[in-house]
Amino acid sequence: MAKERTLSIIKPDAILKNVVGDIQSRIESAGLSIIAVKMTRLSKKQAGLFYEMHKGKDFYEYLIKFMTSGPVIVQVLEGENAIRNYRKVMGATMFGTAEKGTIREKHATSNAHNAVHGSDSPENAIREIGFFFPERQIYPKENYKLSHDPNA
Ligand code: ADP
Ligand code: MG
Repeated sequence: MAKERTLSIIKPDAILKNVVGDIQSRIESAGLSIIAVKMTRLSKKQAGLFYEMHKGKDFYEYLIKFMTSGPVIVQVLEGENAIRNYRKVMGATMFGTAEKGTIREKHATSNAHNAVHGSDSPENAIREIGFFFPERQIYPKENYKLSHDPNA
């Protein structure tokens, strides 16, 4: 299978708990490359648009409040089967059901406060990546070669 991209968000709860490095380490250990990254704070409007497919659900209002309560780290991940692979690294959504060894098993503290977001389909991955990053802010590895170190 060809390389695929997915959008990852490290949510405000994880940033507050100082577990950004742990989450990134799990991502890299799963064979995924971080090819774009930024820290930002979502406005209500941005969060509402990003999660518009959940509009009307009973958790929607709180989700927007939570996602705008502090900064987030948004990242583009690249690798084989990146969408499915990263969803597996994240673990299941509902609190207490995330599989052993997953980010959510370790860091979620409720249904809402579950540390991470990951795209759930190729269509949504394209939409979500475009929501945060123009192509020129994404750095796929095949475009770069380490320079030869003359002192090595
Ligand atoms: P996922 O993030 O696993 O794709 P969803 O797309 O279903 O899950 O939901 C988006 C986010 O909304 C979840 O990550 C979580 O933060 C929140 N959420 C989902 N379901 C609930 C719920 N029943 N109660 C509170 N928050 C929820
Ligand atoms: Mg989702």
